[in-house]
Amino acid sequence: PLPIVAIIGRPNVGKSTLVNRLAGVQEAIVYDTPGVTRDRTYKPAFWADRDFLVVDTGGLIFDDDTEFLPYIREQAMLALSEASAAIMVVDGQEGPTASDLEIAQWLRQQHSVPVFLAVNKCESPDQGLIQAAQFWELGLGEPYAVSGIHGNGTGELLDELVSHL
Ligand code: GDP
Ligand code: MG
Repeated sequence: PLPIVAIIGRPNVGKSTLVNRLAGVQEAIVYDTPGVTRDRTYKPAFWADRDFLVVDTGGLIFDDDTEFLPYIREQAMLALSEASAAIMVVDGQEGPTASDLEIAQWLRQQHSVPVFLAVNKCESPDQGLIQAAQFWELGLGEPYAVSGIHGNGTGELLDELVSHL
C-alpha cells in the first residue's frame, strides 16, 4: 500500500487547494476498503521518485470555531491513524489563531507520525518568510511558506516530507 499523507487544518486555510497542487490534476480515488472512511478522497501524488496518497480532511465548513473544532479533531485523528506523515496547513495572511494552536497541540500530543507545517497563502517570497516565522509558536518545527494557488514553496516542503516516508 502507498504511504498516506494527511492534510489537516481548520476550514478555509487552503487545504483542498494544496491537495490539488500536490496531486496535480489527477482524479481522486475513492477507496471502498474496510477501515477507510468514505467521506475522504485520496489523491495520488509523486515527488522525488516517491509515490504516495494525499488525503484531505475537514471538508465541512462551520460558522464558528466552537462548532468545527470537535469535527476537525475527529477527522484529524481518523486520518492520522492511517497516515505515514501529516501536513498541518495554516493561513499565512491571517497569522496563528486560537484554533491553529489547539489543532497543533493535538498533533504534538499524537507522537505518531511526522508533522510538517505549511504556511499557505504566501505568494510573496519575501513576505512569506515573515509570515511563516509567526508560526514557530505552534511547536511543530520549521514553518514552510507555500502558496497552494501559485505553487511556490511546495517543492521544499515535499523534499522534506518524502524524506520521512
Ligand atoms: P480549505 O477549506 O482549507 O480546504 O480551503 P480551500 O482550499 O477551499 O481554500 C479556501 C480559500 O482560500 C479559497 O478562497 C481559496 O481560493 C483560498 N486560497 C487557497 N490557497 C490559497 C493560496 O495559496 N493563496 C491565496 N491567496 N488564497 C488561497
Ligand atoms: Mg477543503
